[in-house]
Amino acid sequence: MGEVDFMMVNKLASDMGPVFNRSIDILKGMKMPQEAHNVIRNQYYATVILSKLERAKANNREQVIGICEEDLYLPEENYVLGHADILAGTAVVSLFQIRQEFYGLPEDDSKIYPRLYKEAIHQVAHLFNLSECRNPRCINYFSQVMLDIDSKGEKFCDICRRKLTTLV
Ligand SMILES: [Zn+2]
Repeated sequence: MGEVDFMMVNKLASDMGPVFNRSIDILKGMKMPQEAHNVIRNQYYATVILSKLERAKANNREQVIGICEEDLYLPEENYVLGHADILAGTAVVSLFQIRQEFYGLPEDDSKIYPRLYKEAIHQVAHLFNLSECRNPRCINYFSQVMLDIDSKGEKFCDICRRKLTTLV
């Protein structure tokens, strides 16, 4: 959504497919919905973005995940790194706080993709009805700060993996 590096989206799609045993199509890029933009917060309302993504679905069984550069929020949260709607089968992940720039640090490409990958897998795991994990090494661990994302692994723990095989 918006201006997102196609190479990164392409890599994400090919890495995620096998994890969930699904084929992934990359849809045509869409603009960030202006109705989701909150001028006062200068952030985008994640729920509005999800409803926009829902309209891009070809059928009910399809799931769609949007990747954007803009900062996201929910009314009860200062920000969200990602958000998912299980019933609608939609998820979104923002690169805004994944980027080192956000912390006033020099950009580091080696950090961006692993963070995006972990957050995207975590959000899509929600879509498969997998609840959040308490194991801080598991990719499905609920991580709200970047340090947690950086410290967790890129794989599901045994418990999540077992649950996931029954869900996908
Ligand atoms: Zn786990």
